[in-house]
Amino acid sequence: MRSTFGKRELRAIARERIWHMFDLASVEDDPALAARYIVIMERLALRMDLTLPKEIKRSYCKVCKWPYRFGTVLRIRRRLLIVHCGHCGDIRRIPLEKVSR
Ligand SMILES: [Zn+2]
Repeated sequence: MRSTFGKRELRAIARERIWHMFDLASVEDDPALAARYIVIMERLALRMDLTLPKEIKRSYCKVCKWPYRFGTVLRIRRRLLIVHCGHCGDIRRIPLEKVSR
């Protein structure tokens, strides 16, 4: 399908919508609904061939899409941040960035 927008414009619009979805997900009180927003956001990113920003990617569980703010356990061990999903129990290890001195 042809559209009046170029690829660059479309991506810019998609990026905006992704942030909008992320905002909706971050204020949603119902975790199941927030997870829906995240799924839509991921699909959008996939279709537009966009990589989600780190701060978005690290805010929810990769497996069940639940935002980490619902009952997630965080622990720090050595240089790793251990994230224990409060919904599906998935464990994710995120290396902490080196702090420059
Ligand atoms: Zn999970």
